[in-house]
Amino acid sequence: MAGIRTVLIIDSNGSDRGIVAGFLEEYYNIIDTGSIKEAYSILSASTGGIVAVILDITKDDSYCEEMLHFIKEREKLSRIPVIITADTESEETEISALSAGASDFLYKPYSPVIVKKRLDNIISLNENASIANDLQKDHLTGVYSEEAFCQKAAKILEENPLAEYAVVYSDIENFGLIKDLFGENAGNNILVYMARVFKHFIGRDELCGRMEADHFVLFLKYDKEALNENLESVVKIINDFPISMNIMLRFGVYKIEDSNMPVHAMTGRALVTVETIRGMYGQYVAYYNNKIWEKQVHEQEIINCMEDALKEKQFMVYFQPKYDIGSERVAGAEALVRWQHPLKGFMNPAEFIPLFEKNGFITELDKYVWDTTCGYIESWIKNGYPVVPISVNVSRTDIYNPGFIEIILGIIRKHNLEPEHIHLEITETAYTDNPKQIIEVVKQLKLIGFVIEMDDFGSGYSSLNMLNELPIDILKLDMGFVQGDMGTNSNNILSFIIGLAKWMDYAVVAEGIETEEQIQMLRNMDCNFVQGYYYAKPMPPDEFEAYMLRHNVLDKIDEIHAGNIEGIKFKKSQGVMLIVDDLALNRKILSKSFSSYFQIVEKENGADALEYVKENYKNIDVIMLDLVMPVMDGFTFMKHLGSDKRYKDIPIIVTSQGGEKSVEKSFELGATDFVEKPYNLRIILHRVQNAVIASRK
Ligand code: C2E
Ligand code: CA
Ligand code: CA
Repeated sequence: MAGIRTVLIIDSNGSDRGIVAGFLEEYYNIIDTGSIKEAYSILSASTGGIVAVILDITKDDSYCEEMLHFIKEREKLSRIPVIITADTESEETEISALSAGASDFLYKPYSPVIVKKRLDNIISLNENASIANDLQKDHLTGVYSEEAFCQKAAKILEENPLAEYAVVYSDIENFGLIKDLFGENAGNNILVYMARVFKHFIGRDELCGRMEADHFVLFLKYDKEALNENLESVVKIINDFPISMNIMLRFGVYKIEDSNMPVHAMTGRALVTVETIRGMYGQYVAYYNNKIWEKQVHEQEIINCMEDALKEKQFMVYFQPKYDIGSERVAGAEALVRWQHPLKGFMNPAEFIPLFEKNGFITELDKYVWDTTCGYIESWIKNGYPVVPISVNVSRTDIYNPGFIEIILGIIRKHNLEPEHIHLEITETAYTDNPKQIIEVVKQLKLIGFVIEMDDFGSGYSSLNMLNELPIDILKLDMGFVQGDMGTNSNNILSFIIGLAKWMDYAVVAEGIETEEQIQMLRNMDCNFVQGYYYAKPMPPDEFEAYMLRHNVLDKIDEIHAGNIEGIKFKKSQGVMLIVDDLALNRKILSKSFSSYFQIVEKENGADALEYVKENYKNIDVIMLDLVMPVMDGFTFMKHLGSDKRYKDIPIIVTSQGGEKSVEKSFELGATDFVEKPYNLRIILHRVQNAVIASRK
């Protein structure tokens, strides 16, 4: 920056101007002018290079104040120091100039050396002040940083001991999703916009600051009614931001009771308050209350005793079996932690895992769970019990730990096991946090030989594109799909996802299975493995051992990994399967499923397909036909085939959305069978098999 520091000299006396400019030229870039009008246009056009202004008012002091206002009121100019020069001393002028924002005052005749000294001092003072100012401000939005916010709030509280204040914490619930869908820039624009809106609502002795990510904090005078009204307006205005998605904004309000409490503890309370309404439709404000306080105390108690609990072995590992859906034999189990607390009693992980994930203790607990689990497997092997792979949960915090791979390998070796004895369940949302780093680690784990399961798939929003690149082996569907929490479309989505998973060569596990109907449905959809209360709840190790001795267990780990224990087999053919569909995804699903049985040829519409049939009809074993396509639809295509008896023996399987009319018309035009989309691959395999065999007779 040193090279482009510019000083603007405004003096109608050309010779004075020349002297100062001549002297300063050596140290600064000088712009000088004798015209006040020109000075305004130079300042207006400035893009930040001007570090000081020297303004002479000898001839006319009437424009002094105006010029100072002009500079001080413009954001980009306001920090530029202004030095006023004049030739007669006047206390009155001096005071009015300084109070209008001038930085210094000099009288002529002046020594250029003194001018330079003063100028240097003022410029460096100003630069240091703006660095300090920068540290106080959030760079993106210009509101206070967390530190500055806390300091300023403490000061205001001290100065206004009688006033009532509140701290408000804001959170955009779907901010991550917005950034993923619309990009980092759009996310930043929203934050800048929000800061502007908040600033608008902030009055004297009130503050706005930004914590990390999308979280803002406000320090406001407490008036519940006004506050509610303001927050409601803020929500509305923020949703006016031009983006095709609802911005889910929520606030947690903590009314300050004890002004001696550290401000960051107050923002902490406002934060836990906003967390209580996360995910609640239509609720955008919550007030801190007793219940939240009790919960905080309870959580603090848990944190206080977690380390001792680990030392005293209060944590236990339970096992819940997983089954091969076809044979209903046990194909694996999941290790799930439990806490037997001497005073609080038996605790489920939902009570403490989220806390441990926040404070990092999860890495210690997980090490313990993995070690304990491997200890059991070792003893089962030693005692000749049936052994299946055991899945352990891996928290995202574990993966970010640089020593993670060494730790888990160390545990495996310590118990004389191989990586394939363990499956690692990594929750889907971990992948969306920091895809690159996670993917790197998971790739290495896979290379070493661990089987990777993506847990809670469908709960986050990994794009289907990304799914393609992930180094995983098994998709474990989020419980919500099976239990119907995803709305009336659950089943369609479910069968689509299972189809997709198969297409990408992933085995699929469904968990949370509680009824016979759910199993039936999943079986039809060609899901591989199931886990849930219907078969067995998580049980303590001794019960699990007994269970394994009583039940039919898949004994070959290889067999389990293959994921298709009861695959359908029919004879490989030398012939062609012609797939006619305008959607690449549909073609891909079919070609992937049948490429080991047929030579696959794909066409995007009826006309292209017809061309192909004319040349190659002798080699075609079966045609998979979509109905709705551009250029030539499926019905027209069938009409053409039907009109030539050379083609009429080729079986046609129509693959389309259902609808009685379409089904009827397809059969009228000579279709052999009709399979509804979305595909159920097991059914389609059967139908193709039947159609091909029938046509060969
Ligand atoms: P998760 O990994 O998705 O585990 C499945 C949860 O579903 C378990 O809850 C299991 O008991 C429960 N569940 C199984 N079958 C059914 C069913 O048919 N119906 C219903 N409603 N629930 C079923 P749990 O044991 O309470 O664990 C909750 C979560 O805590 C786990 O969800 C996992 O994210 C976490 N967790 C458990 N143990 C560990 C651990 O050792 N380490 C880590 N990092 N996380 C763990
Ligand atoms: Ca799990
Ligand atoms: Ca799960």
